[in-house]
Amino acid sequence: MLQIPCPHCGPRNQEEFAYERSVDSVVQLDDAADVAMTALFSRANLRGEDQEIWSHMCGQWLRLTRDRMTHAISDVVPL
Ligand SMILES: [Zn+2]
Repeated sequence: MLQIPCPHCGPRNQEEFAYERSVDSVVQLDDAADVAMTALFSRANLRGEDQEIWSHMCGQWLRLTRDRMTHAISDVVPL
């Protein structure tokens, strides 16, 4: 199980968090109408780090940098 360091609460078990989405899947509202739903969910599954948006049960949202292969977390910042 992952330990995720919440900037507000300290290290917590992954089960207290909800994965929301990868940062690169966020589309500006102005562009959303031009992007087909299939394009939103047909991204390449690349190795390396990914920036993800998570929420913690304390109500805070986080941007988490996580390695796709090892799941090692290298950075967590509040949103
Ligand atoms: Zn928290």
